[in-house]
Amino acid sequence: MSAEATNPEAHPEARPELRRRSRSRLDLRRLGRAALLGPPSRDRLPDAIGHVAEAHRAHHPDADLSILRRAYLLAETSHRGQMRKSGEPYITHPLAVTLILAELGAETTTLTASLLHDTVEDTEVTLEQVREEFGDEVCFIVDGVTKVEKIDYGAAAEPETFRKMLVATGNDVRVMSIKLADRLHNMRTLGVMRPDKQARIAKVTRDVLIPLAERLGVQALKTELEDLVFAILHPEEYEQTRALIAAHAGENDPLPAIADSVRAVLRDAGITAEVAVRPRHFVSVHRISRKRGELRGSDFGRILVLVGENADCYGVLGELHTCFTPVVSEFKDFIAVPKFNLYQSLHTAVATPDGHVAEVIVRTRQMHRVAEAGVVALGNPYTTGEAADCDEERVDPTRPGWLSRLLDWQQSAPDPDTFWTVLRAELAQDREVTVFAVDGAAAAPRTLTLPGGASCIDAAYAQYGEAAHGCIGARVNGRLTSLSSRLSDGDTVQLLLSHDSSSGPAADWLEHAATPAARIAIGSWLATHPDDAAATTTAARAPLSVVGARGGSGNAVADLPNAHVRLAGCCTPVPPDAVAGFVVRGGAVTVHRVRCPAVAQMRAVGRTSVAVHWRATADCRVTLLAESFGRPHLLADLTEAIAREGVEVVSATVEPPVEQRVRHTYTLQLPDAAGLPALMRAMRDVPGVYDVSRA
Ligand code: MN
Repeated sequence: MSAEATNPEAHPEARPELRRRSRSRLDLRRLGRAALLGPPSRDRLPDAIGHVAEAHRAHHPDADLSILRRAYLLAETSHRGQMRKSGEPYITHPLAVTLILAELGAETTTLTASLLHDTVEDTEVTLEQVREEFGDEVCFIVDGVTKVEKIDYGAAAEPETFRKMLVATGNDVRVMSIKLADRLHNMRTLGVMRPDKQARIAKVTRDVLIPLAERLGVQALKTELEDLVFAILHPEEYEQTRALIAAHAGENDPLPAIADSVRAVLRDAGITAEVAVRPRHFVSVHRISRKRGELRGSDFGRILVLVGENADCYGVLGELHTCFTPVVSEFKDFIAVPKFNLYQSLHTAVATPDGHVAEVIVRTRQMHRVAEAGVVALGNPYTTGEAADCDEERVDPTRPGWLSRLLDWQQSAPDPDTFWTVLRAELAQDREVTVFAVDGAAAAPRTLTLPGGASCIDAAYAQYGEAAHGCIGARVNGRLTSLSSRLSDGDTVQLLLSHDSSSGPAADWLEHAATPAARIAIGSWLATHPDDAAATTTAARAPLSVVGARGGSGNAVADLPNAHVRLAGCCTPVPPDAVAGFVVRGGAVTVHRVRCPAVAQMRAVGRTSVAVHWRATADCRVTLLAESFGRPHLLADLTEAIAREGVEVVSATVEPPVEQRVRHTYTLQLPDAAGLPALMRAMRDVPGVYDVSRA
């Protein structure tokens, strides 16, 4: 039996303020009574499931309701006699969970599995029976949400249950939809539990379920779960927030009047739109009051504008920004650059003549549905219709990148404690970032979704697989940067690859790689190329360096016998910079410029430096100026031409274009001075370059 179905200890009304969804609750009461009346005749829909059917038909007018009726009958008969801790018949729980999903627009298979979700765990019904009567999909989903046996797993049962559920979610995201709705209903009715148990469940909800709801884009469930957790874990702040909202409700709320003027503006412009005031949920009010210190009347809600077509969104925006004063810093276009979790909307804020500032969200009705219900709104992930319509350009929303990564590492975390700790840490991490990878050869940029904290190295492996071993540099938003640079949401990244197949990653790439794919690829390359690996670092390649670097790149020599010397990635020292070395873990010496802040920091904590100097080299170092007409991929083409001559780039500077002319300055390390004329010829041959000269 589920945890929630044991002895009553506290009155269910202990937290009346949690009962925000009074309509759903009334429905549940009715459902409970109907369930007590027993199964109705087989030829009509049982009354108790009428609300589910109504909600389902509202989203899916053609849905086949007979399978829902059969599922309800099996669930009702098998749970009969079981009571919730609140004293209500157990069947009220699967019905409530199913109603939550039906209202979000879930498709019929999800609802069928949801009605049956506790039968295998808590009743005599077997998975085989579910499979025979309802088919493989329903059986798979029910199995996915069924807890592992406490008797087999003891204290590890909860982590193992989540592991099982995540693995199942990897195959069918509807498993997680049901788990989230299940947790929402259990959180709504948590008042009957002992306080310590409430707190324990609320913490798991905070650490695991809420991040999952956010990542799957199920905003409606996420916000309600957040408020329920807030009330349990931070009762005082919850009470203060409630008092703030109550006090505001008694005052003059400026938002309805602003909504009226927005309506008038759009009507005059001939744009058909629904305009509504959307109150913020408690946690959102709390966050904004922490951020602002004091709340303005217009902070308690936002104005939501719903339109028919994508293009209308920008039409609305244009009118708003013309007829009111826009707060430019608040403008965000999540239509052109959708968030990782499918969310799309325009966000802006406008100031009214009387000094109020209101946040406005503009979206289409379809975007609204996805914003509220996320993956639940996508329908059956196995049919190509609706889910694919949502946005062909984006990655498979039912198998998002973060989920694949979770599933990757969970296999290598055999003990449940490690799994549980890492899972919560992973979910607590930054959100994912979506970046646009530009490739000279491809016309359109490719969208890459990476975990928060990912670097250009991660982007390189995500885009090119093992060919990323030859990555020699990166441009982020048009600017040259080191490969270790972290990427932010919306960045455009262009990776510069060497065509020399012997080129490989530097040992310190591992430190800057956040994705398992990059780490595994780098690790296995390094393991098979131990000699090459010792000689290269990112620093030696930063901001750009080429294949010739390996084997001869450690130009700095430390006054320690046999020390492995690396150039620091933070300050990228080059000769003749004044440098200082520090012994780091593993005995290597890291070389920084003496002016690097890291040097001062390390000295401040008592680390002593070792002497390092630049090795005199017999080869030729030269600085060349390349003058050219600006065009896309010029930099990539130039560095490629240099690489093909076997020359290493020590540093490169690109000046901003003046009348479409750009000047690149390269400091280059040639293996042999005799190669200079050929090098300059090769650079001049790059289209757009009209002169190459020595500085
Ligand atoms: Mn349940």
